[in-house]
Amino acid sequence: MRLGRAIGLAISLALFSALPVRAQAAPTVVTTIAQIGQPLGEIAGACAHVESLLGEGVDPHLYQPTRADMKRLLAADLVLANGQNLEAGLRRALDALAAQKKVAYLTEALDRTRLLPWSDHHADPHVWMDPQMWRDALTFGVAKVAALAPGCAAPMTARMHGYMNRLDALDRYIAAAIASIPAERRVLVTAHDAFAYFGRRYQLELQGVQGISTESEAGLARIQQMVAILVARQLPAVFVETSVSDRLVKALIEGAAAAGQTVRIGGTLFSDAMGAPGSYRGTYVGMLDHNATTIARALGGRADGFSPELARN
Ligand SMILES: [Zn+2]
Repeated sequence: MRLGRAIGLAISLALFSALPVRAQAAPTVVTTIAQIGQPLGEIAGACAHVESLLGEGVDPHLYQPTRADMKRLLAADLVLANGQNLEAGLRRALDALAAQKKVAYLTEALDRTRLLPWSDHHADPHVWMDPQMWRDALTFGVAKVAALAPGCAAPMTARMHGYMNRLDALDRYIAAAIASIPAERRVLVTAHDAFAYFGRRYQLELQGVQGISTESEAGLARIQQMVAILVARQLPAVFVETSVSDRLVKALIEGAAAAGQTVRIGGTLFSDAMGAPGSYRGTYVGMLDHNATTIARALGGRADGFSPELARN
């Protein structure tokens, strides 16, 4: 009898100690762009299940949510978006979720004076291009995730400090890589204006054909103006982006060739989308490393890669 009760007590204790683990299953966080989700997933570890809606090569300006996306958003404990109307096609869905207080916008946590202008209502949304600004945006996101997993504060804080130190080292690498480009060639020509924060941080002049959002169309006058810049500055390379058509950039190359200036495609940059999940270029650090290293090499600078992954063959 007493033995039976003792066994019963032991079993119920075992069940009781097992229960909280199940009851406190890791919260689910859904982000729009992977530039938010990948670093937060790394920092959260087992403390949260972090997933991103927008995959490799997907343009967030034009993206429309699928029915499956809506299910994932509704089931999430927290939704983290960039804001500043980057996710224009997701806006109605995000507004509806914001009414349930489940959405936080990373760029809205930053002091407005640090943001570059765009329209009357929104700042330039491409903040992830400046790792010093993005670390502050991510810090805000980490705090939101930590609030859902209070038992995880210590390990998440430790991982966050490690990650932020890595971003500081990446920032120093990018500054040195861009500074190695001959001064007159420090001009980045791309299809759309995603690199303004990158240019401001690393003193790189920018010329985009299409404006800040890919929703707008470039005019012939703008293309002719940019061909004139390529020729006058003797620029050797222009760049394509994984999430934007290369049609406009090819028009620039043809225009420059007609004017006697040989311009090549200096490489493909990650502007609004990262590389394949699970690959180095599918991480936020790898995305910026790839961009800086590709730009520096194509414009005549020296760059060995922040990671050995990008070392020259
Ligand atoms: Zn963009």
